[in-house]
Amino acid sequence: MSRGTRTVIPARTGWSGLLTAGTRFRVIDIDGGQAADLWTFNAERPQEHLSAHHSRVHEGEIYPRVGWTFVTNERRPILRFVEDTSPGRHDCLVAACDRPRYELLGAGSSHGSCEENLLEQAAELGIALDYAPQPVNVFANFRVYPDGRLELEPCVSRPGDAATFELLMDAVVVLSACPQDIVGFQPGGPTDMAVEVLEIAGREAPGN
Ligand SMILES: [Zn+2]
Repeated sequence: MSRGTRTVIPARTGWSGLLTAGTRFRVIDIDGGQAADLWTFNAERPQEHLSAHHSRVHEGEIYPRVGWTFVTNERRPILRFVEDTSPGRHDCLVAACDRPRYELLGAGSSHGSCEENLLEQAAELGIALDYAPQPVNVFANFRVYPDGRLELEPCVSRPGDAATFELLMDAVVVLSACPQDIVGFQPGGPTDMAVEVLEIAGREAPGN
């Protein structure tokens, strides 16, 4: 993949890239109303990865937004949220969809899931992983209300909306265009998403 090139992530599938510290990448909701699950792993030692749990404490907030620094399960900075053209609704509380989720929803065992997409991408990169860590759910409009209720509200991202992140260490980035079509929080989806890996000052973004 050359720098600045837009790569389409077909609906319901995953994407991964091995990117160097300082690289920015942009997650794009092509048609609007669609969420992407995002994971980031230390390239050298993938057992260290972005941890939503630790990041929420680090930021003292529950909704990811521009200015956030995500930290790892070792509390080291791994990713910064640098730009957002969407209405700014993102989540890092709700687990990735997985096979049991769809079985419980009555969709059977063959329904694709974000967890499966992650495990597939990880396997291709030689990362041994048998479960999905808590993802950052880009464009997912999941809300916690004052009485403690958690609601999976419909995505409000518009066609072409983009969220841009900067890596703070060499890392493997995995994205999943969420295949959720039973619970109706993706009014536009499942649809294709896209990722753009941007040039970094003085260096070129690596291919993959
Ligand atoms: Zn999903």
